[in-house]
Amino acid sequence: MFENEFQSLELISESLWSEPHQAHQYARDTLAAISLRPLTQEQIIRKTSAALIHQAEQQGQTIHERALNHPFFRLLPKERLILVALHKTRWSYQRLSSILNESIENIERIAWNARFHLALTQTTKRIRMPGAPKNLSLSCPEYDEDRPWTQRLLDGETKGQSKHFLLDHVKRCAGCQQSLESCKELFYSIQSFIPNRTPDFNQDFLEVWKESQKKQGLSHQSTKEYLEQWLSRKENLFLVLLFFTVTLFWLASILIPI
Ligand SMILES: [Zn+2]
Repeated sequence: MFENEFQSLELISESLWSEPHQAHQYARDTLAAISLRPLTQEQIIRKTSAALIHQAEQQGQTIHERALNHPFFRLLPKERLILVALHKTRWSYQRLSSILNESIENIERIAWNARFHLALTQTTKRIRMPGAPKNLSLSCPEYDEDRPWTQRLLDGETKGQSKHFLLDHVKRCAGCQQSLESCKELFYSIQSFIPNRTPDFNQDFLEVWKESQKKQGLSHQSTKEYLEQWLSRKENLFLVLLFFTVTLFWLASILIPI
């Protein structure tokens, strides 16, 4: 598994538990258990994250003292995971949809709502809340107030022809340009609220991963490989030879008449 995936898992866990050591412990134990199963790297990431959010939701809101005044930790676990995944690890809506068992449209709605909510706690600076463009023309893209195209574009979810169309349209339409600019402001205004990963835990994850891979390798050994390994031990080879010798004498005593 790549190092940045370990970092992402740590960050996801730290978005769910405000105390870094606790978050690290949960993420490490969950990763160790799930890595024992014969899964692809992508499946491991998704299942570990899904198990972590399930655990956090089961436990309820247990906020560490240090995080009590942190607006981010007042959001729901699912909202926190989505914001960290989108702002810090750049996970796709598709991955989040599979982890959280929500439709992609719902992921967009939850993200939009959580971003709004977090921006409203901003007290040091007044920001312009994003909304639908004024004076929509027929060529303007449809603006859904619950999950606008501006958010999808900034989350890197608009690709190919659609992205080309939007970028081209924004250049020519002042209304849509303003909507996109205010959405950018919203993104920047909450960036500092979303926690960064606590450094220096990563090596530990690497050990857990290697250990799981080793155990998994043994459990997947073929019978032939297992027999070869068993016979390579001197005491086992002696047992086999003893068994054959005794059997040979026993057969001889039956077959050869005295
Ligand atoms: Zn427009």
